[in-house]
Amino acid sequence: MAKPVLLTVDDDREVLRAIERDLRRKYGSDYRVLRAGSGPEALEIVRELKIRNNTIALFLIDQRMPGMSGVECLSQAITLFPDAKRVLLTAYADTDAAIAAINDAGINHYLLKPWDPPEENLYPVVDELLEDWEAAFPPQFEGIRVLGNRWSPVSHSIKDFLARNHVPYQWLDIETAASDSEVRSLIGLLDEEETRSLPIVILPNGERLKQPSLVDLAEHAGLKTRATEAFYDLAIVGGGPAGLAAAVYGASEGLRTVMIEREAPGGQAGMSSRIENYLGFPTGLTGADLARRAVVQARRFGVEIISAEATEVRIDGPYRLLKLANGEELSCHALLVATGVQWRKLDAPGVERLTGAGIYYGAAMTEAMSTKGEDVYVVGGANSAGQAAMHFSRYARRVVMLVRGSSLNASMSQYLINQLKATPNIQIEFNSSVAEAHGENHLEAISIHCAETNEVNKVPASALFIMIGAAPNTDWLANIVERDERGFIYSGPHLTRDGKRPNGWKLDREPGLLETNVPGIFVVGDVRHGSVKRVASGVGEGSVAISFVHQYLSKVV
Ligand SMILES: Cc1cc2nc3c(=O)[nH]c(=O)nc-3n(C[C@H](O)[C@H](O)[C@H](O)COP(=O)(O)OP(=O)(O)OC[C@H]3O[C@@H](n4cnc5c(N)ncnc54)[C@H](O)[C@@H]3O)c2cc1C
Repeated sequence: MAKPVLLTVDDDREVLRAIERDLRRKYGSDYRVLRAGSGPEALEIVRELKIRNNTIALFLIDQRMPGMSGVECLSQAITLFPDAKRVLLTAYADTDAAIAAINDAGINHYLLKPWDPPEENLYPVVDELLEDWEAAFPPQFEGIRVLGNRWSPVSHSIKDFLARNHVPYQWLDIETAASDSEVRSLIGLLDEEETRSLPIVILPNGERLKQPSLVDLAEHAGLKTRATEAFYDLAIVGGGPAGLAAAVYGASEGLRTVMIEREAPGGQAGMSSRIENYLGFPTGLTGADLARRAVVQARRFGVEIISAEATEVRIDGPYRLLKLANGEELSCHALLVATGVQWRKLDAPGVERLTGAGIYYGAAMTEAMSTKGEDVYVVGGANSAGQAAMHFSRYARRVVMLVRGSSLNASMSQYLINQLKATPNIQIEFNSSVAEAHGENHLEAISIHCAETNEVNKVPASALFIMIGAAPNTDWLANIVERDERGFIYSGPHLTRDGKRPNGWKLDREPGLLETNVPGIFVVGDVRHGSVKRVASGVGEGSVAISFVHQYLSKVV
């Protein structure tokens, strides 16, 4: 934690240095002592400290300074640090002004210059004030802060990215400015252009990023965005359960392993509010927990995790070359594709326009808190939608599930159906779908079509979460590996048709169980044609694939 600040201000350089020295000597181990030679300079420091979310514990300010008096300086400074203790340094002749200031600027104490010896005239006063301050001092949040509007899609994607990458951050919603003095004072410190460019990300060192791209944000948040090596034994694209398992097994068995993930490790599973059927966790665990544990495990074995998107694969003899969206290229002998699936888009008027502004794909955990006391709509009838409904029911006034079919039995696990039925604020509307989304700047209402009555009803809604199935996103691999008509990648036995090996296959063996039509390129998890779409099966495939990788590598020249 950054040390709280003692700020001393005096236009007389010698006095300033002397008081700084005395303060440092006694308080330097617990406090940071800063100095300023004038009121305006002090206010500049105060603003900067506020933006960095540092704390000022005490002002020690000379009263008689040209341009701006100590009291004038203090009355402005305390609007940003109202809890700081205030000491005015005065000459004997200014005692009256100091006494008047006790009321005007809420001065806690005034000290007559000179204060020598400090043990008698300075420290006892400061000790007492700092003791009081410490007793009431609220610990400051020290990480990244995001200041923006709840309804902004960019704000949503920044929060989502930071949360899923386990980067601690503080969200400050400008809509709460009227009731939250912290938000109000931060807004007051931004310049005009910054106010127009919200959301703004404020880093612990005070640097401000206006509407940063996720790549920019990743770099500033300390995530690795570039590979350290030019060559790896194994490169894994996708950091969901399948990719993470492959990474752990690969690295633990001695392969130089890199894992490339464009959003956040954990994949779809990382978005699950509670996985209840994963072996070994009888009370279930959140997807975020599973992802965090797996990342720690992978790092422990030396896996390099890069926050980047893979966009192209090239083959050059025994090398598989992977191009990343940031322009980098890395080379490997074995490539494992574990890119899973992404949410299918809901095609209804208004949905695209309001996505990120009240409409979200997936469970969007970061939005759960802001649905407190509201009505939430969840579209979908599979396990993911059921879990999301259970999760939001803890915050929202009411959760309405819109299910296209007439029952959940075919699409959802029985344990989850039982939980939904037993939760009083969850309501399930069968034969229902979203016909339109309405709202100016954010979602305000939805029209729901009922297939049974053919009626359309418009209802007020501020949050809609869509979970209507998913599709693989493998177009970037289209010219390299064989895929089915929906984009899922073929592997092993699926590649052999009428007893014939895949086109271009030159080896005197069949493609391995999890190998694609290109030797040395493997596929695991949800993106694989014919896979079982579950966490455990993804983890199983990721782990098993490593033994095929070893077999392949043993023959690579
Ligand atoms: C909300 C929800 C709840 C679920 N609950 C359960 C449950 O309780 N039990 C259960 O067994 N299963 C559950 N599932 C299903 C389970 O999460 C998936 O089957 C599993 O996550 C698939 O793992 P995967 O590694 O194959 O792919 P994914 O989890 O989809 O991960 C793929 C990763 O690849 C990344 N990626 C994609 N393309 C690229 C690229 N070009 N470059 C870099 N990275 C890329 C993605 O960002 C993603 O992180 C749930 C799914 C969801 C969405």
